Amino acid sequence: MPELPEVETVVRGLQNTIVGETISELEVAWDKAFEAEDAYDVVVNKTIRAVERRAKYIMIKLDSGALVVHLRMTGKLTPVYPEKHVTVTLHFRSGKSLYFQDTRKFGRMIYTPDPDDMLSHLGPEPLGDAFIISLFRKMLKAKKRVIKPLLLDQTFLVGLGNIYVDEALFQAGIQPESLSHTVPARNVEMLHTAIRTILQNSIDAQGTTVLNFSHGDNVSGTYQAALQVYGREGEPCLICDYPIKKIKLGQRGTHYCPKCQRKFRR
Ligand SMILES: [Zn+2]
Repeated sequence: MPELPEVETVVRGLQNTIVGETISELEVAWDKAFEAEDAYDVVVNKTIRAVERRAKYIMIKLDSGALVVHLRMTGKLTPVYPEKHVTVTLHFRSGKSLYFQDTRKFGRMIYTPDPDDMLSHLGPEPLGDAFIISLFRKMLKAKKRVIKPLLLDQTFLVGLGNIYVDEALFQAGIQPESLSHTVPARNVEMLHTAIRTILQNSIDAQGTTVLNFSHGDNVSGTYQAALQVYGREGEPCLICDYPIKKIKLGQRGTHYCPKCQRKFRR
């Protein structure tokens, strides 16, 4: 599943390629991949005014309304004809096209007249200016939940997937089964810094490619090399040499160092 940095990378790529294009034709090869009441009428002849990201959603903003895309497991948006597994195609007046390619077909493109309303249930953006330490501390205190699944909950905070949560909790010295309201202020501060740094570094590195992802232009990301705990079960911790442990937590593979990360429960 692509995480926030990968989606951000896709969005930046699209900003450079499809903004200003006018849609001349819509081709839906896989019915479930496109949702709108009258797809053709709401999309055709509209011009793409902006491409933005909210959480892991891609918002392709039109003259009115927007196409909201979630890539899910294997979805890709590419201007290059991929030959196989194309679920939706937008053709433009310029002669160019945008292909939604999706081998597992879980990805969705939805037309909505009001994208902000559609996505209003989502938590704050970790890289947004409003996400300050004091707010994060209050958010964690207000919930009495196990911290890892809480950080994965998009209604709490958006954009963090399994890989980044494991990495951030390692950098903050917090064991993933800790309870959110018991984490000391110092570790909350470290977690806040870790989340923002990891996401920013990852965006700068053009996204990780661990989980079957490549950008629209098919250049692979390079962040994978920087992972400190994710996927390193049994390998020595980079700080203390103790073997990295892997457990299942809320059905997700969870990696941590039993020595460097403390379990806060009260
Ligand atoms: Zn360690």
